[in-house]
Amino acid sequence: MPSGVKSEVRSYQMYINGEWVDSASNKTTAVIDPSTEEVIAQVPAGNVEDVNRAVAAARAAFDTGPWAASTPQERGRILFRLSEKIRENAAHLAEIESRNCGKPIVEAEYDINDAATCFEYYAGMATKVLGTVNPVPDNAVSLTMKEPMGVAAMITPWNYPLLMATWKMAPALAAGCTCILKPPGVTPLTALELTKWLPEVGLPPGVLNVVTGSGSVCGTALVRHPDVNKIAFTGSNSVGKGIIKEAADTLKRVTMELGGKSPNIFFADADFENAIDGALFGVFINQGEVCSAGSRILVERSIYKKFVEAMTEKAKTIRLGPPLERETKMGPMVSQDQYDTVRAYQELGKKEAKMSTGGGRAAKFAKGYYIEPTIFYDVDNSARISQEEIFGPVAVVIPFDDEKDAIRIANDTPFGLAGAVWTRDLFKAFRTVKALRAGIIWVNHMQPTYVEAPWGGYKQSGYGRELGPWGIEEYLESKQVHINLNEQPIGWY
Ligand code: NAD
Repeated sequence: MPSGVKSEVRSYQMYINGEWVDSASNKTTAVIDPSTEEVIAQVPAGNVEDVNRAVAAARAAFDTGPWAASTPQERGRILFRLSEKIRENAAHLAEIESRNCGKPIVEAEYDINDAATCFEYYAGMATKVLGTVNPVPDNAVSLTMKEPMGVAAMITPWNYPLLMATWKMAPALAAGCTCILKPPGVTPLTALELTKWLPEVGLPPGVLNVVTGSGSVCGTALVRHPDVNKIAFTGSNSVGKGIIKEAADTLKRVTMELGGKSPNIFFADADFENAIDGALFGVFINQGEVCSAGSRILVERSIYKKFVEAMTEKAKTIRLGPPLERETKMGPMVSQDQYDTVRAYQELGKKEAKMSTGGGRAAKFAKGYYIEPTIFYDVDNSARISQEEIFGPVAVVIPFDDEKDAIRIANDTPFGLAGAVWTRDLFKAFRTVKALRAGIIWVNHMQPTYVEAPWGGYKQSGYGRELGPWGIEEYLESKQVHINLNEQPIGWY
């Protein structure tokens, strides 16, 4: 598009019971491009009535519709076709994700590819859900049958919008559940784009519904609704805790993928150049808006000074820019709110520690929520910038004396999502892996994520696991069946 021309504003509808509809509120919400601050779309501002319609559709589809009678093979084929649609339209989806989130286009392309792979993976897994025969001490056959949990509501965050939704929808649909997805208010577009292909791939009406709207209205209504059996949530700890309390009234199954403050630990014997790259990549990928960001960088004291200097020099060369430019390595924050939050932490950090680079708005951009990559060093692990999730491009660097000290500092956090350790000493690496209290540990890398391996946290980073066979288990119930083989009366009375 030539410069100066205002981008087209797309109008979206929600997807309920196989139809595209406006909200009963008749209101819409503007969606912003965070790099220009311009409105790029309008989406329906859903309300409780919309949620009720979506839940009724999902309930009916689960209880009596063709989905209830579908075979795992049929479900698998539908998911394969959906994955093909995502691949065919990957460039389109990546562009929308990049513009809506502010994430670099190259990273958005990875996300869309990963979403397609996730649908493929669970398409295959639909036919591999196995029950068991249990060795009971009786003349009987004892079986465990795996059955879909029912109506699953998915509430997702803005940092990886399509991918976080896919990690939930793909296993849920493979298991035979029906779904209501509530995408994040600021980045709902790729979820809505996906609905366009649902009729074409053969998904019956009501099986997957997408309701847009605020968390406080639509999210709460889903969590409270008695006909929803399961809530799959990815988001912040404060919202997650509220959802657990609300869900208790109807004893819903709940999975929680929450925040983190993950340690990225560098021993002196690590490959130095790789280590510097790993420290920066670990914390600044996706502008630092990553739940598993290695935002606490722990460095052995003998290399600490050199490490901070090298990190700082390289951080200054990170290319900030418009998300759609292929050379861009860091785009703007997703929203004005997130920009304000991160800016406040930058100011707090200046009071709590020393700063080697960054510390403010990226001044060369007249518009957009751009923030400089920021490094604080000589930080105490008890400082607020060490303990609280910032969710932006702000790193804290903390020195440590030895292995024991590194592990003590690394585990001194309420979170337990992820961690990484860099060393060439295999024994030291494994001792550290075992000692860290977190759900995901990388050795000599940080962030690679695979659909085949479990994702989820220890401690206050949540519970439940996504991806792999663990992911589909979260949408299945186990039914015990006992078949008596004795033909005589029970003989008790
Ligand atoms: P958020 O908690 O503000 O919002 C998440 C979702 O919850 C949104 O869809 C929102 O509309 C909805 N919501 C808000 N209030 C609600 C309520 N009262 N009831 C029901 N739903 C409500 O989180 P965010 O700012 O979108 O995302 C950032 C957070 O997500 C960070 O804490 C990050 O660590 C976390 N996250 C975790 C993972 C993981 O895998 N563990 C992955 C990505 C993001």
